[in-house]
Amino acid sequence: MTDFRSQDGLIVGGTHFIAFVAARLAALPSPFPDLVVFSLSLPGIAAFRQTYGNEAADEILQWTYRMARRFAPDAVLGELADDSFSILHEFDQAWVSVPDIAAELREAISGHDAGRRLALIAPPSIGAAVHHGPASRGAALELATELHRRAKLAAQLVPVHGQDGFLLYSPAEDERVRSSTVLSQSLRQAVANHEFRLHYQPLVDLRNLEMVGLEALVRWDQPGSGLRQPASFISEAETTGLIVQIGAQVINVAMQQVDDWIGAGWAPPRVAVNISAIQLQDPDLRSVIFGAIALGQVKPENLELELTERTLITWSNAARLLLDELREMGVTVALDDFGTGYSSLQYLKELPISKLKIDASFVRRIASDRRDAALVKVIVGLGEAFGIDVIAEGIEEVAQAEILLECGCTIGQGYLFSRPRPAQQIPALQLALRQRHQEKPSCQHP
Ligand code: C2E
Ligand code: MG
Ligand code: MG
Repeated sequence: MTDFRSQDGLIVGGTHFIAFVAARLAALPSPFPDLVVFSLSLPGIAAFRQTYGNEAADEILQWTYRMARRFAPDAVLGELADDSFSILHEFDQAWVSVPDIAAELREAISGHDAGRRLALIAPPSIGAAVHHGPASRGAALELATELHRRAKLAAQLVPVHGQDGFLLYSPAEDERVRSSTVLSQSLRQAVANHEFRLHYQPLVDLRNLEMVGLEALVRWDQPGSGLRQPASFISEAETTGLIVQIGAQVINVAMQQVDDWIGAGWAPPRVAVNISAIQLQDPDLRSVIFGAIALGQVKPENLELELTERTLITWSNAARLLLDELREMGVTVALDDFGTGYSSLQYLKELPISKLKIDASFVRRIASDRRDAALVKVIVGLGEAFGIDVIAEGIEEVAQAEILLECGCTIGQGYLFSRPRPAQQIPALQLALRQRHQEKPSCQHP
């Protein structure tokens, strides 16, 4: 067997590592040990390198490498790329637990002194692929290449599907990648073919069921699949960046709808659209918004932007300036899903926010857990102090609406009043809500 190892067990270059794995596979003794390829990746190292320079970044890599080496002196390490390396391990089947080994490896590279260094970058991701049983000499190279690919794929998927920084490859991972590729291709087509539709959900005054706002929620009218809910495609749209184009279409369709309603003689309340973090970084967002609020009879007062706390963490100064400019003109900003993210109260003081939307998770438990009611009261108090409207999301039961009113929260949104509906049903919905209130002057269903 050719040994590509240098003195310290390091194999430089991916092809050499794979060749070494193939050689081991072909020469496996009986009874066959489990052969495990780990891929250890430090996803934050590239950004760290840019900021702190090559020397500091290499020092972290070296450290990680040394710790991995110390942890597994018999293993073979291949240095494959700037931000990752692979480790080949052989184990007796009797005791091997790959997740346990990964946890120990992670501990070894993150513990003590290394912890401080690694704290400077995103946490390491460990992927693993296991081979059981013999391998024929002819198939060894193909198998080694495949094991290496699987381990790397698992490491890449750690941030999304891993646990404790680790993911063991299974065929499901390939399926995930395949379906996400298919989804992103269909989304690209959907953007080109304008397959997105908007449904609108009312925000109501809990005291009289008057419609005081509308939230536009995107649906994907995918040919052959019916209307798809955002949960099935927004995150892929964000990962691929397609959310920028989808979001622009949403803003346009929503403001076009406002113009249509006005043209038909119905004055709609302010319409909110959800804006994702990536969209807020898009330099064209300004012209998209300005174009939309200049359509027909539309005014800036017709538009609200819903941002989440997560969005605010990553935003740039340019985005901040844009929001200030828009506020001056009359476009408002709501903070969505309030209470689920980082809830820095600093935002309330510094940013041009005019609405806080209390996340549905608080509302869901409000009737059973008095602590949620207490939290709502605090948020309402904050809103009053800062001159910010407070809205409760996800109201499904009369009891929830009643407690919210007791807590001083007077605006709400939820299935109790209406599910999101197509635009043509909205003017009639306003009348139906008024009628519901007249018949039963509480926030109850008829
Ligand atoms: P969100 O902005 O917090 O919107 C509220 C979600 O809660 C909507 O789900 C709405 O249908 C649902 N909802 C409203 N009332 C109730 C209720 O009483 N009970 C329950 N169980 N759910 C209720 P939807 O339409 O599926 O949207 C989910 C999320 O997708 C939105 O959460 C928003 O984050 C995102 N989204 C929707 N449209 C867009 C869009 O145009 N752009 C972007 N970037 N994200 C969007
Ligand atoms: Mg929203
Ligand atoms: Mg929300």
